[in-house]
Amino acid sequence: MNLASQNNICIQCGLCCNGTLFNWANIEPNEVIDELFPTEIIKIDKREKSVFSLPCQFLNNCVCTIYTSESPKRPLICAKFKCKLLQKYEANQITYSESITLIKKTKELAQKNDKLINGTFPELKELSTSKKIKALKNKLEVANNQAEFRKQFGKILLSSFTFEHWRKKNFVVNQKK
Ligand code: SF4
Ligand code: SF4
Repeated sequence: MNLASQNNICIQCGLCCNGTLFNWANIEPNEVIDELFPTEIIKIDKREKSVFSLPCQFLNNCVCTIYTSESPKRPLICAKFKCKLLQKYEANQITYSESITLIKKTKELAQKNDKLINGTFPELKELSTSKKIKALKNKLEVANNQAEFRKQFGKILLSSFTFEHWRKKNFVVNQKK
């Protein structure tokens, strides 16, 4: 989440912190972590990189609660990260109101997809949108009969893959949070 400019679209969004776009955020190598950011939430992932899990515990109503303009309390990635939408907004390729409409639409699509998954797989209810989709894909991967799984849960898979495409198209850039 980037909070640098006035009229910032990020404080209406929070999608890169709340687990809709990503499961994890990276801590940079040799990064000095502020004491307000508890080091026990930092884990080492399969790639041997330091990460912390999303949704982030410091997000409150789309606002990062450990950020102030005077102090770099957030991990570096949080200050640096700019999604595709934010980059387009800062380059005046999309207006404020179009950006907010796109953010709202994304939240609606995520909620709709969450509801579909929760209805069929209640054990995934507590997971964020991104983790739910990952868990659904894992279920497909380990299914004894993948063709049958696709047939049985086609509607949910289609909705999840469509949402993934939407998320990539509108938000995800190569720089991975
Ligand atoms: S997803 Fe983009 S617009 Fe939304 S909070 Fe993150 S950087 Fe800002
Ligand atoms: S520390 Fe702040 S900016 Fe970083 S993921 Fe958490 S809520 Fe978002």
